[in-house]
Amino acid sequence: MDKKYLFSPGPTMLPAEVLLKMAEPIMHHREPEFEKIFAEIREGLKYLFQTKNEVLIFTSSGTGVMEGAVSNLLSRGDKALVIRGGKFGERWGEICKAYGIEFIPIDVDWGKAVDPKQIQKALDSNPSIRAVYTQASETSTGAKHPIREIAEIVNKYEETVMVVDAITGIGVFNLPMDEWGIDVLISGSQKALMLPPGLAFVALSDKAWKFVERSNLPKFYFDFKKELKSAQKNQNSFTPAISLFVGLRESLRLIRKEGLEAVFQRHEKLAEATRASVKALGLGLYAPDSPSNAVTAVKVPEGIPGGKLKNLFFEKFGITVAGGQDQAKGKIIRIAHLGYYERLDMVMVISALEMLLKEMGYPFELGTGVKAAEEVLMR
Ligand SMILES: *Cc1c(COP(=O)(O)O)cnc(C)c1O
Repeated sequence: MDKKYLFSPGPTMLPAEVLLKMAEPIMHHREPEFEKIFAEIREGLKYLFQTKNEVLIFTSSGTGVMEGAVSNLLSRGDKALVIRGGKFGERWGEICKAYGIEFIPIDVDWGKAVDPKQIQKALDSNPSIRAVYTQASETSTGAKHPIREIAEIVNKYEETVMVVDAITGIGVFNLPMDEWGIDVLISGSQKALMLPPGLAFVALSDKAWKFVERSNLPKFYFDFKKELKSAQKNQNSFTPAISLFVGLRESLRLIRKEGLEAVFQRHEKLAEATRASVKALGLGLYAPDSPSNAVTAVKVPEGIPGGKLKNLFFEKFGITVAGGQDQAKGKIIRIAHLGYYERLDMVMVISALEMLLKEMGYPFELGTGVKAAEEVLMR
């Protein structure tokens, strides 16, 4: 039998409620029926982002609004500070480069969180930095950056905004945008929002909107000002991914029904169970000091090829986990638990890990990891 499971940090598994809604006949995006859905989505997104400001929706993958957060906030000659602790941090630098923005990188060892003191130091010695670009959760390493502390620092600088790619943070752990003073917060549909890929979200603080006012970098599709005007009329500037919007209304309803606090606690529990089982199996965590509750990066034991282990997950069990990229290639597997996951999902994936490790000759007693997970899940 051919049954498949996604445990990759995007795309993630989808609830039947969402899938069924998206299978309904398509409607037209300039009709009142769609505007009503749009209006409900706007409210749901404000709840999710914990902001009073508008959350813009673009039909694109997450990277689209990352690009928009450079082209809409900065102007020619502006400088940026980029936290590079993995593949997604590197992407901020690549986008800046594409727009001719000079950036100062803070290179963080993979698997580590950035030290906020380094940001303070960089801002003090480079007063021309207009924006700090970071991830909330660096999906490529499984590490979480200290967003609250970074926000506290950046908020002291009138002429600098803080931009957070929270694509695997929103709906996973607490990131109260308004309360912490995060200027720009970004998410995407295929992670904790329990949707297929295709939508990207961005919210801006009042301070960030002032930067948008004066920005002179080229932009067309990802024009935040234009999209804000459209959103206020429950419209998109261009044809949106209509079926995804219909699914989004449903997933936002599910999140609201569970409640944000409960959503965060569920993620914490699943992540803790995964980490506990990894440790019980004698495996290492790739980001032990500041692990994200979105995804657990597991160090593959010496002598076991990580690429092969990842492939066997799929061949034997139909489970997709993620491998490592670049310097982590072959060294880690990443098990996601963001979005539509519950306790027994983790038991299943850990059990599969055990069976594969056993077959590959790694010495341990079967059930060790599952037991450790169960102990956390029963708390
Ligand atoms: C998935 C992800 C993105 C977006 O990638 P897309 O492929 O463009 O959707 C960006 N940042 C992080 C941290 C991610 O996990």
